[in-house]
Amino acid sequence: MPDVPSYLRRGYITPEELFGMIPKPSEERLRAKPVAVPECPQEIPCAPCREVCPTGAINMPTPNDLPIVDYEKCVGCSLCVQICPGLAFFMVHYVGDKARITMPHELLPVPKRGDEVVLLNRMGEPVGTGRVILVIPREKSMGDTAVVTVEVPIELAWEVRAIRVPGGKRND
Ligand code: SF4
Ligand code: SF4
Repeated sequence: MPDVPSYLRRGYITPEELFGMIPKPSEERLRAKPVAVPECPQEIPCAPCREVCPTGAINMPTPNDLPIVDYEKCVGCSLCVQICPGLAFFMVHYVGDKARITMPHELLPVPKRGDEVVLLNRMGEPVGTGRVILVIPREKSMGDTAVVTVEVPIELAWEVRAIRVPGGKRND
């Protein structure tokens, strides 16, 4: 029986595992403007991210290959985040001592710009609070999901991958 990768057994991928598979954007690039980073480690037949990218930044010779972003070609438009059915694309932008994380947000309620929200890591655990600075509602999104940009402490840039809106429903 083939070995099951640890991220599949665990249910989420760590930054160390991710950047063992794809390149990590340089700090200089992360500071220049938002950059899209796919967290899509499985070779599945899927390619809407590649098709929607206006600059051809997503390199994927066949739909079964992993998406690899040419960070120099990425203009930070967020279309890949909006359209990815696996909710696997994020954007990261370092601004001073903060990081702005752009993520899909499928749960209700959708926050408003300026809201303080609970920051969640890949396990869904709270790791702090952050402020919403941009919302693309579902109706204006290319895909079927709202997209939220939240400002977080820079040391959490590679930890925070979801938010909980105060007043929203909890599963725990
Ligand atoms: S953010 Fe825009 S330019 Fe960058 S990889 Fe995604 S779709 Fe392409
Ligand atoms: S659209 Fe999403 S799930 Fe599909 S290949 Fe791209 S990153 Fe992976």
